[in-house]
Amino acid sequence: MERGAATGRALPVKISHVVKRYGSVRAIDDVSLSVSAGEFVTLLGPSGSGKTSLLMTIAGFARPEAGSIKVGENEIVRLPPHKRDIGMVFQNYALFPHMNVGENIAYPLRLRGVGKTEVAEKVARTLDLVQLSGYAERRVDALSGGQRQRVALARAIAFEPGILLMDEPLSALDKQLRERMQVEIRRLHDRLGTTTIAVTHDQREALTMSDRVAVLHQGRLMQFDTPRQLYERPCSRFVAEFIGESNFVPVSVTGGVARYGDLALQLAEIPSNTVNQLLLLRPEKLVPLNGTIPGGINRLVGIVVDAIFQGDSLLLSVRLSGGHEISARLPNRRFGEHGIPAPGSSIEFGLAPEDTLLVAEA
Ligand code: ADP
Ligand code: MG
Repeated sequence: MERGAATGRALPVKISHVVKRYGSVRAIDDVSLSVSAGEFVTLLGPSGSGKTSLLMTIAGFARPEAGSIKVGENEIVRLPPHKRDIGMVFQNYALFPHMNVGENIAYPLRLRGVGKTEVAEKVARTLDLVQLSGYAERRVDALSGGQRQRVALARAIAFEPGILLMDEPLSALDKQLRERMQVEIRRLHDRLGTTTIAVTHDQREALTMSDRVAVLHQGRLMQFDTPRQLYERPCSRFVAEFIGESNFVPVSVTGGVARYGDLALQLAEIPSNTVNQLLLLRPEKLVPLNGTIPGGINRLVGIVVDAIFQGDSLLLSVRLSGGHEISARLPNRRFGEHGIPAPGSSIEFGLAPEDTLLVAEA
């Protein structure tokens, strides 16, 4: 088989029309996905959306009923896991409790027939990469959650696989450590250059680590895009709701104008389909106007229902003139010259045409 990152040749992965069933459940329902060499892709979706199933078919621990998975030029669907040139970090780490840290990391190297001296070298180098130098002799059960996570990562990359797979690698860690590790994993990926496919149900984690994110729902691929595109241009209501905070108000559309109650909002893009459209309002894109209305900016008016201080921002609930209650998020910059808006007071928001997006109801 072709070698991976060790020789500077990370491998592309091409998943075509993969189907995986468990009884009557279609865990993966005709998913096609191409990951470029050296790319970091995250599979994102709610619990039960098929993320683990898809990762397991790539790793070789589950056999799909239909479809093809190619790594480089090779079809791998029928290869056993250890012949796939794939390193894997399991959700619960699956470290060997009876082995110390060094032995855990050495295991996949021994499995591949690597000689003793080279094993020792690679274990030391990998420990260094995950910032655990000097931990080789430690017992696994004497480590913290974060350290175990690093050992699992080290074990997966020690044999320099062309592809690294990670199933919810950070889910066992507390929030602060998780956020630090997201950045660390991304930096490690950039150093190694390995093609990486990770799984998470945490949308912020996906946006933080990935070049592209594949959003799954009920075994289907909903959208595969860069973090920026997913957030700014979600293709469906599901994706818009799953990533970031969102409000939707129904509008009727004629030409480049969306009508909401007696307000007319200029759109940046004229939709091809004009029936049953929803206007997506991201809470942080609504800017309080304080009386002055800059030219070319759409206006939304409403009454403040409540204002909740959340530290870095203020979360406002606002009943719009058209009757819908939406949320708006104001960054904490002393909340403007008028301070925190009082419940019952009227409020006016500006929304740039570029920040308008229509999504279909379905
Ligand atoms: P996720 O990782 O996104 O939470 P999974 O891939 O684990 O989702 O599961 C997708 C669907 O397949 C779910 O409906 C789940 O119940 C089902 N499923 C997964 N593994 C099995 C299994 N071994 N046996 C039966 N059903 C399974
Ligand atoms: Mg899972």
